[in-house]
Amino acid sequence: MSFTVAIVGRPNVGKSTLFNRLVGKRLAIVHDLPGVTRDRREGRASLLGMDFQVVDTAGFEDDGGDSVEARMRRQTDMAVSEADVALLLIDARAGVTPLDRHFADHLRRLPTPVILVANKCEGKAGAPGLYESYGLGMGEPVPVSAEHGEGMYELFEALRDHAIKAGALTADGDDPEPEEPAEGEDGEPDPTRPLTMAIVGRPNVGKSTLGNQLLGQDRLLTGPEAGLTRDAIAVEWEHRGRRVKLVDTAGLRKKAQIYDAIEKLSVGNTIETIRMSEVVVLVMDAAAILDKQDLTIARLVVEEGRALVIAINKWDVVDDPQTALKRLKDRLETSLPQAKGVATVTLSALTGRGIERLMDAVLDTWTLWNRRIPTAQLNRWLEDMIERHPPPALPGGRRYKIRYMTQAKARPPTFVLFATRPEQLPESYSRYLVNGLREAFEMPGVPIRLYVRGGK
Ligand code: GDP
Ligand code: GDP
Repeated sequence: MSFTVAIVGRPNVGKSTLFNRLVGKRLAIVHDLPGVTRDRREGRASLLGMDFQVVDTAGFEDDGGDSVEARMRRQTDMAVSEADVALLLIDARAGVTPLDRHFADHLRRLPTPVILVANKCEGKAGAPGLYESYGLGMGEPVPVSAEHGEGMYELFEALRDHAIKAGALTADGDDPEPEEPAEGEDGEPDPTRPLTMAIVGRPNVGKSTLGNQLLGQDRLLTGPEAGLTRDAIAVEWEHRGRRVKLVDTAGLRKKAQIYDAIEKLSVGNTIETIRMSEVVVLVMDAAAILDKQDLTIARLVVEEGRALVIAINKWDVVDDPQTALKRLKDRLETSLPQAKGVATVTLSALTGRGIERLMDAVLDTWTLWNRRIPTAQLNRWLEDMIERHPPPALPGGRRYKIRYMTQAKARPPTFVLFATRPEQLPESYSRYLVNGLREAFEMPGVPIRLYVRGGK
């Protein structure tokens, strides 16, 4: 069965760029000029192994002679009427414009489901626009960067349920099992959905040995199967009654024996693997912990908003575990402040010691990563934090006014702080709040995002 996705939105938001990324060819010419005329194009797209038809509505070849809005609407209606789902793109850097609102209002009246996509979200410049776009009332926006290929996993997740409904995923055999949405109605993680984890680290730290131990100790639910992407493989088993899916990319697939001869992952593969997983286990060798590469990977995990667990392997050959442990903790504290309190498990992949503790840490971290804090509770805490340590006064001695805070999403926990002059809140104050959140709500080692926003 085919599954069709229409890309709609005002000119210059990046529709053609996204189309090209999904179709994987540099077919269309991308112009900086808004409204450059192009044909409506269709192509065969692939996103993490999910195949579908994609329609790009860029261009206004319509000489109806009436207003831009009317012409755009006709183009859009045509594409959307043939689609299973529409992606409404906005430019997060430009913020929400009246034309975006116009599109949203119009799409709302059509029967086709719409996913709001905030494009140009690479770096930080897109954050205000991303949060502003909640105001369109089109549900949670999916932040992406079509140009840089960021957010493609999130886009895949957002499309997945629609694809399953259209029968596309099952028919292709890519995902034989319809996966439930990440969260139930009450915001709690759905216990029937597998937790997705990956094992990353430098060559020779013991990733394959660890993988084999994990698969050997626990009951394997499925054999090696094609995973989320063409190049990925996933195995699933159960730990303490919870389904766990281990994903890995190209390296694994190349060898028939999944964990016998795992390839040494390149950085590119590592990034891809991180993006596909919820919890990332970073394996280090006890004899050589935290070199530059380890830190790079750890930062990547945090930047990508994934839950991090550190596994210190080959603990069986450590002479003086007490001293080693202390040195290790100090190193982590100073070198990796982004992941303060991250779960660190010492183990031996070879003997299997510590594997249970590792999996417990994976499960715990995942639970925190899914955490949702009720707004009332959050704001009681916020009041207390402000009272204890108020934000510095503005130039001229005026008080800096913080209105309230809300948790915009989980996975990772993401908060929005509403304040009068968002750009004037010092970085140090944001850090104070983030550290406070981590402590008060017990979320050690979980990346926490805080956006400061103006308005009411
Ligand atoms: P369309 O009119 O909606 O099809 O938009 P285009 O795909 O032609 O893109 C318009 C402009 O936005 C071009 O200059 C693109 O290079 C740029 N653009 C597209 N995607 C991104 C992105 O993710 N980040 C940034 N910074 N620019 C982008
Ligand atoms: P990878 O490249 O990260 O997948 O590392 P491997 O799993 O291939 O392991 C590299 C080498 O370290 C192999 O010789 C393993 O036997 C050894 N090794 C892995 N885990 C342990 C461990 O816990 N203790 C000891 N002593 N050696 C280990």
